[in-house]
Amino acid sequence: MNKISKKLRSWKNIFAVSRTEAYSTLNFSPDISLARKLDEEDVVANARSKFYIPTRAQITENPKCLNPHSSSIYFAGNSLGLQPRRTRELLFEELDVWAKVGVNGHFRHPHGRPWMTIDETVKGKMATVVGAHEEEVAVMTTLTTNLQLLMSSFYRPTDNRYKIIIEKKAFPSDHYAVESQIYMNNLEPAEALVLVEPREGEHLIDTEVILETVKKHADSTALLLLPGIQYYTGQAFEIEKITKFAKGLGIIVGWDMAHAAGNLALRLHDWEVDFAAWCTYKYLNAGPGGIGGLFVHKKHFDRPRLTGWWAHDKETRFQMDNQFVPSYGASAFQLSNPSVLDMVALLGSLEIFSEYTMPVLRAKSESLTRYLEAMLQYKFPDSPFSILTPSDIRQRGAQLSLLFRPGLMKDVHAILESNGVITDERKPDVIRVAPTPLYNSYEDVWNFVELLRKAVDEVLVK
Ligand SMILES: *Cc1c(COP(=O)(O)O)cnc(C)c1O
Repeated sequence: MNKISKKLRSWKNIFAVSRTEAYSTLNFSPDISLARKLDEEDVVANARSKFYIPTRAQITENPKCLNPHSSSIYFAGNSLGLQPRRTRELLFEELDVWAKVGVNGHFRHPHGRPWMTIDETVKGKMATVVGAHEEEVAVMTTLTTNLQLLMSSFYRPTDNRYKIIIEKKAFPSDHYAVESQIYMNNLEPAEALVLVEPREGEHLIDTEVILETVKKHADSTALLLLPGIQYYTGQAFEIEKITKFAKGLGIIVGWDMAHAAGNLALRLHDWEVDFAAWCTYKYLNAGPGGIGGLFVHKKHFDRPRLTGWWAHDKETRFQMDNQFVPSYGASAFQLSNPSVLDMVALLGSLEIFSEYTMPVLRAKSESLTRYLEAMLQYKFPDSPFSILTPSDIRQRGAQLSLLFRPGLMKDVHAILESNGVITDERKPDVIRVAPTPLYNSYEDVWNFVELLRKAVDEVLVK
């Protein structure tokens, strides 16, 4: 009991340092009335109605689940965000334009979105979400492809500087992409790949460990590539501090923002990040396999890079005279004409983002996740799981990763799922839970914790 009251006290302390007043005056109570009160006061609450929230029966394909017609509890926005209602509208509009005017949709467009310059509908909004200048952002292809294109420009190994530093448990696609860059330059990972890992017995990587590794290999390192948020533990890295340190030692610093874009209040330009890439189907709700985003800092607009006709300045792109004139800024990284359907799918979501600001969304997110954490601490004094994610809200985004005692996770996850609770399992023992500020409510969190308690009890009895 003592332990719990200590934790409840620390809950209040953390709120005292929270940045937005709207969420700062809160006294914790495990009662559902607190969840309802927070929902009433939530300045982002309206956004929920702009998404399709699947019912429990729909998402479980189990019509016999409890309360089949209630909204599911969808905590998987870190994997695939829900569909904005506007996206469906926009997609049908584009299909209609295509059906009615065919190729002319490139130039004449009844909704004012000529396909020739379709990227202009999203660039500014995308830049705002990641804290960049509009000309520093391009919306194109997909995340891993963009990482490869960026590395082909930013990783130019020399005899002296040829190493790439990444984390040991990087997302597999990033790991493979980096290895392939090393091979493409006639090097071997054994000599050119440096892996940062947590201290013995720990899950999180202390900033100091990263800085020590960078320092140790500084003279021979060309590139440091890290995730803004680690997908498995939910740890948010100290982007500004790490970037500054490594750049001070002459290293190029790139960030994979897959789990950070639309989640953290990023300031890529001000932090002087060299380059970054992200996907848009996670917190940015652009749909499965959605189009990717990339950032190139202004200072690097003149770098050599792979190119194609869409990198050509759009004023003269169609003169087709093979006299290459690059577009200004990150647009010069484009190769192909982009998928309009993918682009408007993203637009549907970014229109919702632009009704708020990232600091406002982030303030709700901090509060929502802190509420989740406090409810978990309260309801699980028997600790069937520990929370891998840092308790410091500055070192995490929306997600909490629950590491279960061996043997529990699979059955707990199955019971949750059959009741319309969508979380993400990572074998062997982790469930990732990500309440998102746009469409999740405090009452979702409250219901989730109730159902999780039930599921755990059921499994423990077995
Ligand atoms: C989601 C994710 C990916 C997925 O890459 P795609 O190219 O979009 O398939 C890659 N890296 C990280 C860190 C991710 O979180």
